[in-house]
Amino acid sequence: MEKQVHRVAVLPGDGIGPEVMTEAVRVLELVSALYEVNFEFDQKPVGGAAIDELGCPLPDVTLRSCENSDAILFGSVGGPKWENLPPDEQPERGALLPLRKHFGLFANLRPSVCFPSLVHASPIRGDLVEGGFDVLCVRELTGGIYFGEPKEIREVEKGRIAIDTMVYHQSEIERIAHVAFNAAMGRGKKLTSIDKANVLRNGILWRETVEAVAADYPEVELDHLYVDNAAMQLIRRPREFDVVLAPNLFGDILSDEMAMIAGSLGMLASSSLGRDKGDGLYFGMYEPSGGSAPDIAGQGVANPCAQILSAALMLRYSLGCIDAANAIDNSVRRAIDDGIRTADIFTGEQGTHQVGTTQMGDAILERIKSGA
Ligand code: NAD
Repeated sequence: MEKQVHRVAVLPGDGIGPEVMTEAVRVLELVSALYEVNFEFDQKPVGGAAIDELGCPLPDVTLRSCENSDAILFGSVGGPKWENLPPDEQPERGALLPLRKHFGLFANLRPSVCFPSLVHASPIRGDLVEGGFDVLCVRELTGGIYFGEPKEIREVEKGRIAIDTMVYHQSEIERIAHVAFNAAMGRGKKLTSIDKANVLRNGILWRETVEAVAADYPEVELDHLYVDNAAMQLIRRPREFDVVLAPNLFGDILSDEMAMIAGSLGMLASSSLGRDKGDGLYFGMYEPSGGSAPDIAGQGVANPCAQILSAALMLRYSLGCIDAANAIDNSVRRAIDDGIRTADIFTGEQGTHQVGTTQMGDAILERIKSGA
């Protein structure tokens, strides 16, 4: 049988972006040799690199390449060189936000994974995270209080007032709930939905809608938490959560809390999903949770794991290559378990040794080969 060819727009960006992207592409090339999947990569400039080469952070050629692809693998953008440009011309504002908007990326998925052998990097007390944890935060990204109208500051009789409006359409809640339930089906089949139904009308509609969508996924165990309680429970017992679904504002805060308690920024992948392609797959953009890390760029010491795990997310949620995604996830985990560490996660513990970006890539490649 002919292997299916997936077209991937590769946008390395700035700082450590190109260094870690090289490793992610090496990993994808290897899995295409070993699994039922093939890629056509189309690498294009974005962010500061695109400003330098073509005069703007998201050139037409880059956008066209993304439009013609099945998914976008994104590095990171930004750095001191471009910080003095007008805000809309800067790498992040001028590339990331327009990409999210153009492709209607409405779902942000951020796995918060604390690997068993990296639990000491978590700021949470050891006994609460012993054995590690793996929570997937699913955040609604294009609705809610960040975008509702009216949104203004105006003068009234008693002085100035600020107004932000929280609006959710039932269809927006249904759409993100399906993403979360689908993700739960591919994981531990547990979903915790977050709202503030005791105070907000939005919370009531959110809860009712998620309950209704749950009928399509009888295998998934659903529970609900108020956001204030969720903020506490996620810290107190992170190991008990599987998938956490939240509206935009709450998801913004909780996913950062979860990134923090995982402890290692260089290990955290993320994805933003848009168009539903059917069969539980979506068009999406995949990127590390961290930024371009200008402080270590060009030194060959950056941790490529977040970028490599982002590629695995792409295989899982946009391309439907679950075997290859599992092989990558397992190999990263095994490399870490075997004591291999880049500088950001190296603490000198016995049985561990420090490597650079390429050697970490090599270690993961070896384990993919030996596991296939
Ligand atoms: P950052 O995430 O780039 O760096 C914070 C710290 O984490 C630094 O010490 C860095 O060395 C370290 N770090 C991050 N990723 C790492 C990795 N893979 N391996 C090892 N260490 C890693 O955040 P910042 O310093 O606030 O921002 C730097 C630049 O990145 C800014 O221009 C910012 O605008 C941009 N940024 C871009 C994105 C994006 O492209 N999505 C996201 C956040 C920040």
